[in-house]
Amino acid sequence: MLNVPSQAFPAPGSQQRVASQGRSKVPLKQGRSLMDWIRLTRSGKDLTGQKGRLIDVTEDELKTHNKKDDCWICIRGLVYNVSPYMEYHPGGEDELMRAAGADGTDLFNEVHRWVNYESMLKECLVGRMATKPAAPKGMYPKSQVTDTLPREDPSSPSYDWFQTESSVTIVIYTKRKNINLASVMVDLQDDSLRAEVVINDHSYLIHIELSHEVQENFSVRVIENVGKVDVILQKRENIPWKCLGQPLEKHDSFIPKKDAGLYYRKCQLISKEDVTHDTRLFCLMLPPSTHLQVPVGHHVYLKLSVTGAEIVKPYTPVSESLLSDFKEPVLPPNKYIYFLIKIYPDGLFTPELDRLQIGDFVSVSSPEGNFKLSRLQEVEDLFLLAAGTGFTPMVNVLNYSLTHMSSLRKVKLMFFNKTEDDIIWRCQLEKLAFKDKRFDIEFVLSAPSSEWNGKRGHVSPALLSEFLQRSLENSRVFLCICGPTPFTDEGIRLLHDLNFDTEEIHGFTA
Ligand code: FAD
Ligand code: NAD
Repeated sequence: MLNVPSQAFPAPGSQQRVASQGRSKVPLKQGRSLMDWIRLTRSGKDLTGQKGRLIDVTEDELKTHNKKDDCWICIRGLVYNVSPYMEYHPGGEDELMRAAGADGTDLFNEVHRWVNYESMLKECLVGRMATKPAAPKGMYPKSQVTDTLPREDPSSPSYDWFQTESSVTIVIYTKRKNINLASVMVDLQDDSLRAEVVINDHSYLIHIELSHEVQENFSVRVIENVGKVDVILQKRENIPWKCLGQPLEKHDSFIPKKDAGLYYRKCQLISKEDVTHDTRLFCLMLPPSTHLQVPVGHHVYLKLSVTGAEIVKPYTPVSESLLSDFKEPVLPPNKYIYFLIKIYPDGLFTPELDRLQIGDFVSVSSPEGNFKLSRLQEVEDLFLLAAGTGFTPMVNVLNYSLTHMSSLRKVKLMFFNKTEDDIIWRCQLEKLAFKDKRFDIEFVLSAPSSEWNGKRGHVSPALLSEFLQRSLENSRVFLCICGPTPFTDEGIRLLHDLNFDTEEIHGFTA
């Protein structure tokens, strides 16, 4: 019924043809230009009347929204409340009213086939049709992509796609809020596309051999308030696609993250810089056709082949430096991942990593971890306890707290090391404490030289009770701890003895 791809190009009813025949446009009232509409959609106003909720719309319900001030239209299975858009519509209100309370896909294809209505109406999205009126031809028939049975759980994510002359957009409806760019991983290898969205402790996967070639650079957009993810691919050739492609392994699956397996992509070693006598800052470059952001407090796995065997170890990405606003970033963001890694001469993995030459490759997994940024909400005193490379998760927590936590009064780091020479980024930490009065640093050494005037020993009740002073008597606190397992275990035990609740403590463990 809908969107039948035409052999002729542009299609007989397409925007290009209609425009050239002088499609009638209606004079718009003042303040109703495209720019005015864009401004309105960005104002944060609830244009659907659904308070950000996405609903499944039945045909009966759709029919009831058929008046100018309450007008819903279904386009390609998605339902939009177009009432707020009426006065801004260049084709006039009457044209939109032709599809009021009904499926307007045909009408839309007649005149708007190449218009990016998705972007234009995104803030008007009410939800999906509970049962789609019909799968538009030219869209990959779902039966070939996944099983034909309706999903048992209507809250499962789903996807759809649409195209313009030069692009193909895959739309993932997560049906959840609090999705952000770090929840999405996209890898495009040759023409196989893998897009994974992490939704709480589950993973939704789109995995397709695309039917046509696309350019290696694509973009990912997340519309947080409706939980929608757009993966926008650029066609190599501006021809209409009849289908999206062939399903690959686990396509359209929604499974617990722990069962999803880790996906690795090959990253190139760009630089390696000494930080201490045994710790280096490694910079890896993601492939150009990868979108990956590691959430604060999460880690990835690095994989190398060592004498024929694959060895995998977890590492926590850090920022390039703690003082990034002191200098211009050397490399563009989001394409590079930095790691602070201690090399153990008798270790299995790190000596191999250290032997890599600039330009060599190492495989990097998708992120994992159970740290939730939401636990930092409203926190006033943040205490960080780190030992050795247990400092690495603290780097991004520290950066985040100083730049994003408006409630923060104090962030204090107690950093345990064996000797002064082992302290990672000591100079940067001291500079940061000097620059930002909310931050304090305390070094504790377990094997200091005789010249050391600072604190000594291992994690202990005396050290902790002196350090964990709140800035206000009843301030809201949160504590993070990371280091060798005996250090973390002992630290958490002592924190409980000092009457901190489990909800106030996050231990970074394997
Ligand atoms: P290993 O072969 O594991 O050996 C390490 C040391 O332990 C060596 O001195 C070795 O002789 C000794 N050893 C090994 N086995 C034994 C044994 N049975 N008994 C006694 N001693 C033994 N490290 C970082 O440097 N940076 C990070 O950002 C980082 N992030 C991490 C994140 C997570 C979630 C976890 C769990 C660990 C992280 N680590 C990090 C540690 C990292 O994963 C490796 O454990 C570390 O790099 C050592 O790996 P390796 O294979 O080189 O050494
Ligand atoms: P290290 O041997 O240099 O020790 C650093 C400090 O830890 C010591 O000075 C001491 O104060 C304390 N410590 C060590 N052993 C202790 C013990 N038995 N009891 C109490 N305190 C002790 O540390 P390292 O070689 O840098 O090792 C860092 C550890 O942190 C590794 O085990 C690594 O796996 C772990 N790590 C974990 C994560 C994570 O997210 N889970 C991230 C990074 C590092």
